[in-house]
Amino acid sequence: MSRDRRRKFWGWGFEDASPTTEELAPLTALVGMRFPDATLEATTPPTIDEISIPASRVSPPASLASAIDVSPLARASHTYGKSFRDVVRGLRRDFGAMPDAVAFPGDEAELVAVLSWCDERRIAAIPYGGGSSVVGGVEARSRDRAAGAVSIDLTRLDRVLEIDRTSRAARIQAGILGPALEDALRPHGLTLRHFPQSFEFSSLGGWIATRSGGHYATVLTHIDEMVECLRVVTPSGTIATRRLPSSGAGPSPDRLFIGSEGILGVITEAWMRVQDRPRFRTSTAVSFADLHAAAEAVRAISQSGLQPTNCRLLDPGEALLSGTSMSGDAVLVVGFESSDHALDPWMARALELCADHGGRFSAESGKTRVDLDGIGDEAVSAWRRAFLRMPYVRDAMVGLGLIAETFETAVTWDRFPEFDARVREATLAAATRLCGAAEVTCRFTHVYPDGPAPYYTVLAPSRLDRQLEQWMEIKCAAAEAILAAGGTITHHHAVGRDHRPWYDRERPDGFAAVLAAAKKTLDPGGILNPGVLIDPA
Ligand SMILES: Cc1cc2nc3c(=O)[nH]c(=O)nc-3n(C[C@H](O)[C@H](O)[C@H](O)COP(=O)(O)OP(=O)(O)OC[C@H]3O[C@@H](n4cnc5c(N)ncnc54)[C@H](O)[C@@H]3O)c2cc1C
Repeated sequence: MSRDRRRKFWGWGFEDASPTTEELAPLTALVGMRFPDATLEATTPPTIDEISIPASRVSPPASLASAIDVSPLARASHTYGKSFRDVVRGLRRDFGAMPDAVAFPGDEAELVAVLSWCDERRIAAIPYGGGSSVVGGVEARSRDRAAGAVSIDLTRLDRVLEIDRTSRAARIQAGILGPALEDALRPHGLTLRHFPQSFEFSSLGGWIATRSGGHYATVLTHIDEMVECLRVVTPSGTIATRRLPSSGAGPSPDRLFIGSEGILGVITEAWMRVQDRPRFRTSTAVSFADLHAAAEAVRAISQSGLQPTNCRLLDPGEALLSGTSMSGDAVLVVGFESSDHALDPWMARALELCADHGGRFSAESGKTRVDLDGIGDEAVSAWRRAFLRMPYVRDAMVGLGLIAETFETAVTWDRFPEFDARVREATLAAATRLCGAAEVTCRFTHVYPDGPAPYYTVLAPSRLDRQLEQWMEIKCAAAEAILAAGGTITHHHAVGRDHRPWYDRERPDGFAAVLAAAKKTLDPGGILNPGVLIDPA
């Protein structure tokens, strides 16, 4: 990533990369067709001079002066994550959750000093990696920041420190963002192979702290599986776990911190399991007239032991919105990758399973390509470009006054058909009642032998002055339906502050007590990311 380019302080990505009117034209035409009564008026993005900046309430010691920034731009940029709600608040010039300062520790000693200062003064300390949270994970809500709040930005801890080629692992600092991490591994023929859609602006520490999911459909896709060991700075001291390929020695200390969302400590580095870069790839699209037959095909593939890298089922609405198919069919994009061998037999068997459930595909489907440079062909590159542009497009749609929100979950196969019907019905009913018209679409982002991870998108016409209130009602309707029908409140977006009401009901009480005890031991002052996952005592 170029350090000369400026990132937007109110939304996704670089300031100079917003979509042009021409880039948005197909989408606005589609929205116009779907919602003919909607008035789409672009909102002018805020400038930093328009933002009201409250006086900072914290006075860092002189020894930390060079690591702490209280400038309006730094504070505004660290106020929110990148959710729909965050973008709307940014466009409304509402920066009410602004931290009092931003710390940029350059090494672990400086981080320890920042945390001790916050602990002594009872200042809320909020770890911040790439700031791509979509669940209110990095903001300082007023009730949680009585004595002030400091955002701790880890992006100066941005290096790959060591590579162990023999064990195929790398020791990596937590603040490194996706592209820099891959750039450092590439010359060694290695990759972490973890590509969440937020890859460009999210960090290793953020991935570990939120249990992020990459875009691969099966097996090594959750970051959890790639962590060999961790180093974590807590207000009660530093904890380092042991480097091991596996261990049965009691509950896993790594697993206590993986998914801890910044409430137990700040992850500073991790040994990560890396992989050889894939060279063999095959990928194809299969059409199905019936979504539930397509879901059965996906179930058959996920239970066959084939482990495709891509197994993305798009319902007809998703296929249309993403430009994959205009035919009204559901589309399954299925693909395999390997660094070692050609994949034709795997793809042939997956296509047989699709055919068993009425899937249609071209006779030429599924021949292995060898990508010596590891990049892939033009179609893959085009898909990748579109994937990376999508968050910019989402900001533009929000600025046009649409509700454009996604929510994700997971559920076992036995419940899926009824689950899907109930979640769609509840979400669509709420959105239509509030906005007059709405569209709810679904795709599978990940699949497991015992169930899929469905990802829903809601699109509805609104106006900037009503968007947040309407969004909240739609979000509640969807979340209630997900919980009632047996799903989880999040498969990979994390809990943060926004999912708390449902997470608190999903989580067993005994486990809540254990988590609270861990928090009390590691963070007795309750300064770390208050309000996330659990309330400090
Ligand atoms: C457009 C878009 C697409 C997305 N796509 C995906 C996706 O495909 N898969 C997915 O899983 N998620 C996705 N997300 C959600 C988000 O990117 C992930 O949750 C990601 O893991 C957050 O990483 P980050 O570095 O940006 O963390 P941040 O947003 O900075 O922080 C997230 C949480 O982790 C804590 N934290 C951050 N760094 C540390 C650290 N070093 N130590 C302790 N705690 C820390 C923070 O306090 C906060 O609670 C997407 C978000 C957006 C905006």
